[in-house]
Amino acid sequence: MKLIFVSGGVISGLGKGITASSIGRLLKARGIKVSAVKIDPYLNIDAGTMNPYEHGEVYVLDDGGEVDLDLGNYERFMGLHLTRDHNITTGKVYRSVIDNERRGVYLGKTVQIIPHITDEIKRRITTAARDSGADVVIVELGGTVGDMESMPFLEAARQLSRDLGGEENVMFVHTTLIPIMGSVGEEKTKPTQHSVKELMSIGIRPDMIVGRCSEPLSEAARAKIAMFCDVPEEAVISTPDAKSIYQVPLLLEKQGVADYIIDRMKLRPMTARRDMSQWERFVKRILEPKEHVEIALVGKYTALADSYLSHLEAFTHAGAARECKVKIRFVDSDELIAHDPAEILKGVHGVVVPGGFGIRGVEGKVVAARYARENGIPFLGVCLGFQIATIEICRDVLGLPKADSTEFDPDTPDPVICIMGEQIGVTDKGATMRLGAQDVIIADKSKARELYGSELISERHRHRYEVNPEYIPRMESAGWKFTGRSDCGHRMEIGELDGHPYFVASQFHPEFKSKPEHPSPLHQGLVDAAIAYMKDNS
Ligand code: GLN
Repeated sequence: MKLIFVSGGVISGLGKGITASSIGRLLKARGIKVSAVKIDPYLNIDAGTMNPYEHGEVYVLDDGGEVDLDLGNYERFMGLHLTRDHNITTGKVYRSVIDNERRGVYLGKTVQIIPHITDEIKRRITTAARDSGADVVIVELGGTVGDMESMPFLEAARQLSRDLGGEENVMFVHTTLIPIMGSVGEEKTKPTQHSVKELMSIGIRPDMIVGRCSEPLSEAARAKIAMFCDVPEEAVISTPDAKSIYQVPLLLEKQGVADYIIDRMKLRPMTARRDMSQWERFVKRILEPKEHVEIALVGKYTALADSYLSHLEAFTHAGAARECKVKIRFVDSDELIAHDPAEILKGVHGVVVPGGFGIRGVEGKVVAARYARENGIPFLGVCLGFQIATIEICRDVLGLPKADSTEFDPDTPDPVICIMGEQIGVTDKGATMRLGAQDVIIADKSKARELYGSELISERHRHRYEVNPEYIPRMESAGWKFTGRSDCGHRMEIGELDGHPYFVASQFHPEFKSKPEHPSPLHQGLVDAAIAYMKDNS
């Protein structure tokens, strides 16, 4: 078992996740089987209950795990399908240890952070690594070195490097910030030196330093870092600000990161060729777009782009496929109530209403759907966005002005969206939320079939409410056709509006499985329709 730990120093938000993902991508390109684990030192069991404003989007895995958004980066960069065991939190670790203590597993011993918590951390890392069957597992340590809450994880990492026999089986990559100060623009290495000292005091010697800086590192700065931090110069890597995160693997490749790691860990690459040509083409299409479209993303967490990260990535993937830059206009849904929607949405070539929970912002989203429907603007609704589109059509086309979801109005006379299992006899194994990958059957001759190119698909879910089957015949006769269904046809998964260039919505979240080489089909559909709309209206 070989592990690469990626830690962060000086400040958070250095792009550790992108560094970890990029290293994985490069090793994968050499035919080395990679996997990744994210450690989050918070006490939450998982990200499911976390506010997107604090932590960005909750990313959902095939197995229904609600995890940190970095796992999305791992899946997108490395082409992986991870499980919830690949996100280790302090909450999960403590829960296991306390459960064991109550069951008497520790035979009367005093239960302590070292060794009990650290052993549980090691057990979780090695189990996830072993189960993945990967040659190398990249373990990203969330938080910043020096944080009190990440101490047990660093200690476990140190112990693991001893347990696994050091050098060629465990590597430590430390990402730090190199600020540029003053009018002469000098790169300051002191914060890096301090954070490396901090690591060393815990008994961890970094093998590679990745320096985040607004500019490429100068030779002098590299040499200084190498000397003070005791790493070879070729192991000091520069990651200057990039236009696109997808450039980072190429930046690292140029500096010989993969070669260095392969050599250092005595990995056996299946191919000496750096097969990054497809990736290079993908990056080129991002950086040199031939068209531009603008899509409004209507939500309630629009002040933090990370809240909708997977959507943004899906649009990057779908845009790149058409050499088109998709600019996102973040629209706070309340703005559509307070102001004229025609003003707020002026000039956009498409509208997306993503997922969400709770009543705040809902009416503004209904306005967005109506505006797109009435004006022939391409529209994609996802999860809550699908339910919103359904409500809007019921109110305006079916003539049910009070139609609503029971999530927002429990007493609505027309509960067109209702809690799952209330109207039909299918419930999910006692789960309160329908989570994870589920099969969906797509109807012949539909837009969805055209986009997916197959009848049976699997997409990820995270919802409690669904279309009320009682209203389906009426909805469909009004032109809102359900072209995707699951659970033997009982559950509505995709809606398509007749007579509109692109008004499509899904109960599932296609954004979570979007990959650079395989964009989400429904996002692709929106981008294609937006390009057509832009051409028709310019
Ligand atoms: N709140 C809605 C539900 O629970 C939609 C959920 C979502 O958009 N993820 O069904």
